[in-house]
Order: sequence, then C-alpha cells, then structure tokens
Amino acid sequence: MKKLRLARPVIFAIMITLTYSCQSAWADSSGDNPEQPVFFAPEAADASVPVPAPPPKDSGLLWLVNPENRLESNFVPSSLVKSGDYRMRRETRAAWENMLAALNADGITDLRIQSAYRTYSQQEQIFANKKAQYTGEGHSEAEAEKLTARSIAFPGASEHQTGLALDVTVNGRLNGAFADTEAGRWIAEHCHEYGFVVRYAEEKTHITGIIFEPWHLRYVGRPHSSFMVENNLCLEEYAEYLDNNRLYVFWENVRYHRVELTQDASALPLENAEDVSALRPGSEWRVVTVIRKRPAAALPALSVFPPHTGNNPFLSSR
Ligand SMILES: [Zn+2]
Repeated sequence: MKKLRLARPVIFAIMITLTYSCQSAWADSSGDNPEQPVFFAPEAADASVPVPAPPPKDSGLLWLVNPENRLESNFVPSSLVKSGDYRMRRETRAAWENMLAALNADGITDLRIQSAYRTYSQQEQIFANKKAQYTGEGHSEAEAEKLTARSIAFPGASEHQTGLALDVTVNGRLNGAFADTEAGRWIAEHCHEYGFVVRYAEEKTHITGIIFEPWHLRYVGRPHSSFMVENNLCLEEYAEYLDNNRLYVFWENVRYHRVELTQDASALPLENAEDVSALRPGSEWRVVTVIRKRPAAALPALSVFPPHTGNNPFLSSR
C-alpha cells in the first residue's frame, strides 16, 4: 500500500489558538487597502443598513468537486492553456513544468500526461460509454450506473472539468501498477511540494467513493497540498477540516502560510494574499492564504492544536 503520509522534518503544521502573536501578525499589514472596493450608499438608503461587500474573486483552486459538489454544464475554467496536446489551467501547467524539471533532475524521464481538462460533454460521453459496457455485460441500468460511478465521475463531478487535474503515467496505461513504478513512487512522495495531491488515495476510497487512482493528480497549490499530505487528509476531509477549524498556520523554516476560511474576507489584507478560493463551487465563503515571514516572537506563543479534534477554541471565543 502506498502511504501518503510522509515525515518531513523541515515542514510541520501547527494549529493555533487565538493568541496576540496571531493577531499582530495580521496587524502588520492591515493598513488601507487600495484594492478594496469603495461603496457609496444611495442618498435615500437607510444608512443603518450596511451595504455588504461582494465576496472577493474566487480562484477555484480549492474547489471540492465530487458527486455532491458538481460543476455546471456550462462551466469552463478561466486561463486554459495548452501543454503539448492537453489543455489545463495556467497554474496547473506551471506546477507541472516545475515538477517535471525536478523529476528529470532525479533521472525520471518517462512520465507523461494522459489526460487533463475535460469538458462536460466529454464527461457525459465517457460515462455513457462505460455504462454501455456494463449493460452489454448483462447488468441492469441501475447496476451499470452504480458500477460505472466507481471509476468514472458523473458529468460535472469530474475534477478534470476544473482544469486542475492531470492523469499521468509512464506506459500509456492508467492502473494501480503505476504506484509501483519509479515515477509513481516519486509522485506519491514529492508531488505535494509542487502543489499537487494524489487525489484518490487507497485508504480514502470509503470517503471519496473513487477507486485508488495513483495517476490522478489534483492541483490545489501550496501550502494546502503539503498540509493535506502531512495530516493525511483527502480533499473531502480537508474541506471538512477547514469548515470546522477555519484557521491554521503552516510553518516552513522562516516563513509561514496563514490559511483562514471566512465569510467576511473583506476584513483580511487581501492585497497580500497568495490565493483566495472558495472550498466549493458557488460558495461565498473564501479560503484566504497569506504567506508571511516568521516573526521572531511568535513561536513561543503558539500552542499545538492537532487536526481533526473538532472545536477550535479560536472560533468558539469569537
Ligand atoms: Zn483523472
């Protein structure tokens, strides 16, 4: 079994409780935000009713896309670019190229993309083809649909429609044997360093509902990819983790990423954000990710708060 959990001494994640160090970390850049939209209330408007700011732009990098969170049939990601014969989001291509350079430097030169961006209608076609195969084998309509859904996403439920997913392999075949190739082992260990996760892990099939797919990579960006791997969370669990905890800090040598899920992102210093993304398509909540230099005095004030413990004291106190 390929274990995604990796021991990496230089990177570790710490959940923080509400501390002054955390507040002051925000305060150092909470001056006027020139990009903040300015609203003028109409003269007749009731001044006591605040005009809500629209949620900030959603990069979509963290979108949980699955049968419960499907994309619209007309959804097409922004910034689709080509890499060879395949289309993907610009961010995916940049991360893929960085990762490929590192793979090559390690002497692995046989990894290829097998599939990337997929339109809604392509998903419909793939699903229908697989289902027809099962009905052809004598399964009922309902059985065939159930069997198909184990390996093929329902239309709109495929991450490939986001432009953030890549299927990669070494011999043109997408199967579990990829995990035991040199490239497969390298991917399992290092892809998170480039912002990717192996989306459908063997030990998470009961949560994702998808078979083990060591070849299916999803770009979520850092530090999310590394936090997920360090804490052995699939994307469903990571979304739940953020829903419950709303805030964590990910340390990396002299820097840290501060990750917060908020409904009022306008209060955060968005001009310094590395990324602002909803957790699910259409949600108005935003995950705001900011990178900072590690303040010298911050570490002693932080308290370790392990993931998945449910209630974050930071939240219950505000
Ligand atoms: Zn895939």
